Amino acid sequence: MRRTVNQVTGAGRFAPTPTSPLHLGNLRTAVAAYLAARHSGRQFHWRVDDLDRDRIQAARGIAEGQLDDLTRLGLTHDGPVLYQSDRELAYQTALDQLSDRVYECFCSRREIALAAQAPHASDGLRPYPGTCRQLSTADREQLRQERPPALRIRTDDVVYWLTDRLAGPIDQPIDDFVIRRSDGIFAYNFAVVVDDAYQRVDQVVRGDDLLSSTPRQAWLAEQLGLPVPDYAHLPLVVGPDGTRLAKRDGAISLDRLINQGWTVPRLLGLIGQSLGLTSADETDLAALTDQFDWDRIPLKPWVLPPELVAGN
Ligand code: GLU
Repeated sequence: MRRTVNQVTGAGRFAPTPTSPLHLGNLRTAVAAYLAARHSGRQFHWRVDDLDRDRIQAARGIAEGQLDDLTRLGLTHDGPVLYQSDRELAYQTALDQLSDRVYECFCSRREIALAAQAPHASDGLRPYPGTCRQLSTADREQLRQERPPALRIRTDDVVYWLTDRLAGPIDQPIDDFVIRRSDGIFAYNFAVVVDDAYQRVDQVVRGDDLLSSTPRQAWLAEQLGLPVPDYAHLPLVVGPDGTRLAKRDGAISLDRLINQGWTVPRLLGLIGQSLGLTSADETDLAALTDQFDWDRIPLKPWVLPPELVAGN
């Protein structure tokens, strides 16, 4: 009888925000998340992080383009694609569970910046100074006439510890953070926790620009009684000049690369090399899945070869 090696019931995922086309750095993250999931026998899910209706509507068609890129790379997924814009009820249900820990916050960004102490030296975060934590009922009623409130969760500035598979140990104080914005849209840090649990995601592989949000998300999962996934944050991709890839580098899109003569096997070779998994110039996802090894992933940024950025 053949024994199955697939004992894992969890999943990995890729969850782009559809505001601009995926650039090469995003494609690399997607491939890494896929390989980590498949190598460990996990399912792999796609999610469209389209919480912010206005921004997303302004960039209509982007989500379809992103999903098409994933298909062209061969990153198969299990189950339906989840759209955050369909998940309002789930977020509201989760929020209801926390109702005794949540308070209305009327502060503008500017007020917070003025009241907060200097940003955290290491990550530039400005912890919320707690201005609205103790408002009286009368104050709240008054302020509601002036502006709609955001909702923050009371954290008691707990220090949260976790070990990231790539970035190592992190400990970070968690301030009272926003879980629903003043325009009524649920905050990314809240929705991501509800959705990862819903999709049974127990392995989160993403870019390390989200590392500083991770203690909040892990802490929030615990508050909701949800499992905390394993996290692995990939060092950023930077241009040949050492600056990080930004929106403008959406120009290094799959379409552009294919127009320039890149084939999918060559791109997978390039991405596989950048992840330390292969020396082959051309490869495929099955081979990379076999070769996947956390210990081979470089812990420093991937510096793009100049020919990829030229003419951008
Ligand atoms: N949608 C987020 C982004 O594109 C990523 C969310 C996540 O991986 O947790 O930056």
